Amino acid sequence: MAILEEPIKGVPMAKNYINGEWVESKGEIIDVVNPANCQVIGKVGVSTREEIDEAVKAAKEAFYDWRRTPAVTRCRYLFRLLHLLEENFEELSRVQTQEHGKTIDESRGETRRGIENVEVACGIPTLMMGDSSEDIASGIDEYLIRVPLGVFGVIGPFNFPFMIPLWSAPYAVATGNTVVIKPSSEVPFSQTKITELAEEAGFPPGVWNMVHGGRTVVNGMLEHPGIEGITFVGSTPVMQDVIYPGCGKTGKRCIAQGGAANILVIMPDCNVDATIPGLMTSFFGNAGQRCLAGQTLIMVGEDNRFYNDFVEKVTDRARSIVMGYGLDESVQMGPVRDAKKKERIISYIETGIKEGAKLRLDGRKPKTITGGYPDTCFLGPTIMEGLHRNMRVVREEIFGPTMGILRVKTLEEAIEICNESPYHNGHAIFTSNGKYARQFQYDVISGNVGINIGIVAPMAFFPFSGMAGSFMGILHTQGKEAVRFFTESKVCIHRWL
Ligand code: NAD
Repeated sequence: MAILEEPIKGVPMAKNYINGEWVESKGEIIDVVNPANCQVIGKVGVSTREEIDEAVKAAKEAFYDWRRTPAVTRCRYLFRLLHLLEENFEELSRVQTQEHGKTIDESRGETRRGIENVEVACGIPTLMMGDSSEDIASGIDEYLIRVPLGVFGVIGPFNFPFMIPLWSAPYAVATGNTVVIKPSSEVPFSQTKITELAEEAGFPPGVWNMVHGGRTVVNGMLEHPGIEGITFVGSTPVMQDVIYPGCGKTGKRCIAQGGAANILVIMPDCNVDATIPGLMTSFFGNAGQRCLAGQTLIMVGEDNRFYNDFVEKVTDRARSIVMGYGLDESVQMGPVRDAKKKERIISYIETGIKEGAKLRLDGRKPKTITGGYPDTCFLGPTIMEGLHRNMRVVREEIFGPTMGILRVKTLEEAIEICNESPYHNGHAIFTSNGKYARQFQYDVISGNVGINIGIVAPMAFFPFSGMAGSFMGILHTQGKEAVRFFTESKVCIHRWL
C-alpha cells in the first residue's frame, strides 16, 4: 500500500511558467487534495490579473520570432516533446490519478489520447499548407497561405487534466502561435508536468506559458487585447454566460465546449453481451465525470422480458464494480473529484426520487471501498428506473456515476427525446439493424454519434464536435479544424508585368 501514498514527485507547488521561468503565484495559495485518500498532495496559486498580463506580454513578444521559425523546425520541438511524453508516460498517468481520482488505466487512456494530439500536430508542415491556382485571369495567379495570429488562451476543465489542453496547445504552437494555458486549479499538476517537459523540449521562452488560477485569470484572458483567441472546455453556464460573450466583446475567435447529458438508446435486437460492458465504461467510467459519459439509457420496445433480463444484467455488472484508490490496479472506479461534487450528484439522485424514479441500485452510501479509504468523495454506481422525458435527471447534466432508465415504444420516440435535450454532445444507439442505425445517425442532433459505441470520443485527427447546449463556435479542437482555428487564410493575387 505504501506506493499508493507516495506524493507527486517534484511538484509540491504548482508554479506558473511565464517566459521560460517558473514563478510562484503572488495570489492566494490553495491546497490540492487527492480525493481518494483525502490527503493534501500539493498546492497551487490563484493567480492575479498582473500575472496573466505578464504571461500574455511574454507570449506576444515570443510570437515575433516563433512565427518566423519554419514549420519543420517548430515541429522538431514537438517531436522532442512527444518523445518526452512517451518516456514519462507512466508518471504522467499516475499524476492524473492522484490529483483527479480516476483509475490508473483510465489515466493511461487519457495520456495516450492526449499524446495523439501532439503526434497529429507534428504533421503541421503538411496540415497547414494552403491552396493555389494559376491563371485565375490571364497572367494572374492566386494563392492562399495559412498564417498564425499571435497569442491564444487555453482554458481547461477538471475532468481531463492532462488531455484536454492538448486538444489545442500543440496545434497552436505548431502553427506558429504562442499559448497561455490555464488548467483547472482543482487539478493543476498534470499540466505542470507537461509544461516541465515542454521546457525540456527546448521551446523558446514565451512560446509555451502556463498560469494557474480561476476566474480572475479567465476574465483577464477574455478582456486582454493581446489575446487573439480562446479555447475553452468546461460547463455550459460558464461557456454561455462568460466565455462566448467575453470573446465576442473583445473580438476574439473562440472554441467553447460545454456540458452534456448524453443518451444511449438500446434496441431489442442489440448484441446484449457486447453492449453491457460498453455501458459500464460509458456510465461509470471516470466515475461518470466525462462529457461523453452516458447519463440516460432509453430502452426501446414493449417486451417486458427483454427489459427485465437486460436491466438485471446491467445492475449485476454495475453492483460488482470495484471501487477504491485508482493507483491500485484492481480498482475499476475511483472517487468523484471532491465532496461538493458528490453532494451535488446525490442531490440529483434525490431530485430523481422526488420526481418518481425508483432506485434499482443505490450508490449513495458505498459499502466497500478497497483499501479502506474514507468515503468522503466515493459514490457507488446508481441506477434509477421509471424516468420520463421531462425529469431534471434526464434534461440536466449530473456528471456522476448514475444511469437513469427510461422506456419508450419506438425508435422515433427515442430520437425525439435525444433531440429535445438541451445538450447534444454524444448520443448513441445499440442495435444489430443497419436501418435503425442509419435512421438514428441521420435524425439525431448530436456532435458525436455512436453506433454500438458507448463513449464516442473522436481520435485526434477528427474534430471534437458537440452541438447546441454543448458547444459554441464554428471550428472545433483537434486535427484539421484546430489548424484552421489557429490560422487565418491570407489570399495573395499576383500579376508580374
Ligand atoms: P467549469 O466550467 O466549472 O470550469 C472550466 C474552467 O473554467 C476552469 O478552468 C475554471 O477555473 C474556469 N471557470 C469556472 N467558473 C468560471 C467563471 N464563473 N468564470 C470564469 N472562469 C470560470 O467546468 P469543470 O467543472 O471544470 O468541468 C466539468 C464540465 O466540463 C462539465 O460540464 C463537462 O461536461 C464539461 N466538459 C466538456 C467537454 C466537451 O468536450 N464538451 C469535455 C470535458 C468536460
